[in-house]
This record gives sequence, C-alpha cells and structure tokens, in this order.
Amino acid sequence: MHNVYWEKEHLLSKIDYLIVGMGLVGLQTAINLKEAEPKAKVVVIDRHAWSLGASTRNAGFGCFANVSEILDDLQNDTPDNVYGNIKKRYLGLQKLRTKFGDKNLDYAEKGSVEIFTQENKTHLNNGIDSLQGINTILYNELGLDNVFSYKSNNALPNTIGAIHNAFEGQLHTGKLYETVHSFAQDIGIKLYGGIEVKSWIGGDIIEIDTHDGLKIVTKKLILCTNAFTSKLMDADILPARGQVILSERVAQLPCEGLHMFDSGYYYWRDIDNRILLGGARNLDKEEETSYKLDTNTTIVDELKRFMNEQIFGREVFIEYQWSGIMAMGKGETQQKTPIVKEVEPNIYMAARLGGMGVALSANVADELVKTALSSV
Ligand SMILES: Cc1cc2nc3c(=O)[nH]c(=O)nc-3n(C[C@H](O)[C@H](O)[C@H](O)COP(=O)(O)OP(=O)(O)OC[C@H]3O[C@@H](n4cnc5c(N)ncnc54)[C@H](O)[C@@H]3O)c2cc1C
Repeated sequence: MHNVYWEKEHLLSKIDYLIVGMGLVGLQTAINLKEAEPKAKVVVIDRHAWSLGASTRNAGFGCFANVSEILDDLQNDTPDNVYGNIKKRYLGLQKLRTKFGDKNLDYAEKGSVEIFTQENKTHLNNGIDSLQGINTILYNELGLDNVFSYKSNNALPNTIGAIHNAFEGQLHTGKLYETVHSFAQDIGIKLYGGIEVKSWIGGDIIEIDTHDGLKIVTKKLILCTNAFTSKLMDADILPARGQVILSERVAQLPCEGLHMFDSGYYYWRDIDNRILLGGARNLDKEEETSYKLDTNTTIVDELKRFMNEQIFGREVFIEYQWSGIMAMGKGETQQKTPIVKEVEPNIYMAARLGGMGVALSANVADELVKTALSSV
C-alpha cells in the first residue's frame, strides 16, 4: 500500500529530524531546530490532522503559580524543584509571548484569583501565612514584586477571601496553536498529520514503523508525545485526562480573568462573554487516568453544578464540552517536572507536561533542542 515512489523518494526522504507529536512542544522543537540549522529537513508528524492530546484542548491559562498549589507541591517535592518549575513556566510564558506576539495569541494580562470558601478556610489561612515568604522567594527567582496579594472582598457566591496573582494572563488556545503551526510551516518545516508511530529500530539511521505500514527513515528521532509516550516506551508517565465545559454567551459575566479553587483543581476564565471551566479531576482520578478522550459524567455533572452555584449563582446553559489529556508522573507524588532527555543515541524525548504545560512548552522545547544538538 505504501511503496509509493513519490512519497518514499521525496515527501519522506532525507529527513534530518523527525519529530513525533504536533503539539506545542513538538512544533516549537521543530522551529528551534530549523532556526539552528536552516538547511536541515525537519518533519513533524502526528496521528491526527493536528494535535490530539492537550495543546488544542487546554484552557489557555498563561499561568505559572498559585499559592495553594505551591504549598501542596512543597509537601511532595523539594523547594528547588517546586520553585524551579515555577521559574521555567514564567520564563517559558515570556518566551512564547516574545516570539509569537501577544496580539496573535490574544494574550491579556488580567491577573488570576484563587478563591476560598468556608470549606477550604484552612487553605486560605495557610496561604495568608505563607504569602510574604513566597513573595520574597519569587522576587529573588523572577524579579517580580509582590506576586501574590490577599483581598477579603470578592463578588462570587460563598467566597470568604481571595489571593491574587497580578502577573498571570490568559490567551486564546486556538490562536496560539494556529500561530505556532503557521510559523513552523512558514520557515519550511513539513507538517504531516494522520501518521501514528508504532515502533522503531535505532542506530545511525533510525527506521520507523507506523500503524498503517508506512516506513520512515530519519537521522534523528524526537518524541514529543507527552502522555502517550508511555505507550511507546517504558517511562514514568501516566495520562491525566481533564474535562472542560463552556457556558453560553451572557451579557454580564460574574467575573473576568483567571480563577482557581481547591488548589487549582477547579479553574475558570472568561472567553468571548462566556465562562470556560475545567478540572475536578480529583473526584475520580482513577477513571481520569486514561488515554481516551471520553466524557466523565460524574465530573462533568460536578462542573455544571459548580458553574451554576459557585460562579454564576444561577443556572446557565452549557454550549460546549470536551476533554483533553496531559501527563503526570506515576506513584503517589505524581511528579510534575517534565522529562527531557536522550533516550538512546539519536533518539530524544520531551514529555510529562501537566496542567501548566502551555507556559512550560517553550522552555522544554529549548532544553530538548540543546540536548539534541549538544550530542551531535
Ligand atoms: C483540559 C486541559 C486543560 C489545560 N489547561 C491548561 C492551561 O490553561 N494552561 C496551561 O499552561 N496548560 C494547560 N494544560 C496543559 C497543556 O495543554 C499541556 O501540558 C501541553 O499542551 C502539552 O503539550 P505537548 O506538545 O507536550 O503535548 P500534546 O499537546 O498532548 O501533544 C502530543 C501529541 O503527540 C501525538 N502523538 C502521541 N502518540 C503518537 C504516536 N504514536 N504517533 C504520532 N503522534 C502521536 C498526539 O496526537 C499529540 O498531538 C491543559 C491540559 C488539558 C488536558
């Protein structure tokens, strides 16, 4: 079926870098490689026409930290890792904005708000107690003054207080993806969808087998397959599905900007006079450890309840609903640090991007390209 002269001798010939995964990491990795080596043939493939995981399905939070999550993470990880990840997210977000332009991404720095109700009052008190210390560390790490501030007044129902982050912003996920995708094409990177990698044989030249029997040969293979990497090789990566709902358009929104609740397990923002709400994975983590882009009705029902009761204070119609898949580490601590490494000679990977992977993606792509080029 695939022994086609034109495909073998032209479309898929003489590939220097074959990147698997057309998400934000794969595309930016390809761009960095092509910019470093303009004559190289750089090809990105994906099992879907475009990305089918997280990059076109996320909530568009340009975020790097919230206080409750920092406190939670410090229970499971070292301060170096926790603050190191925050720094990577912050710098990655700045890179994304500088390279692709705020206007193209519809980036708006409206800030973010973590709200607290009576049921998580302890989190609020812990947050307030830790604010100054966290702000000092973030000032030293990022050079930002008073990242977090406490405000007792918030108009949302049942809310007893809120912690604000003045430096976070929101972007349009579709526009970000389209901008990065077009940028890649414009500098001569070949993007082919509908090709799913099954296995490979390593060596000086790598031979790749696909699910529909195509054979592709490349000098270097770069896996940017995030959650799905563990289907291709042994890796400390689990899929973490996330559900998202989007309200109807309303004349008057109850709030604007990024919002979070319950250590970031619930997150919402305004878009186009609607509220986009995602999360509540903690209600059914087992079922959400899945590679399938399915609906979890328990979680979606809870998101609808939260949208009505906690955000609008009245019933609203839900017009869109979808799921996406990000990645986490296995085990109790569910590691959040991405894995960027050489897998074997001429084969590299960048994966395990979790819920703040948009911000991280530029940094991860940089690190991956440095790893790949330094081993030449
Ligand atoms: C619901 C949801 C909301 C989120 N919200 C935010 C947010 O607001 N802010 C934020 O910073 N982050 C958010 N994230 C996380 C962020 O979207 C991801 O961390 C990031 O997009 C990961 O990018 P990636 O390129 O590594 O992975 P992906 O976008 O998943 O790309 C991996 C690609 O690999 C392809 N692939 C896999 N296996 C194969 C194979 N064998 N052959 C060919 N192709 C293959 C897949 O089809 C996919 O396109 C969210 C994620 C989800 C799921």
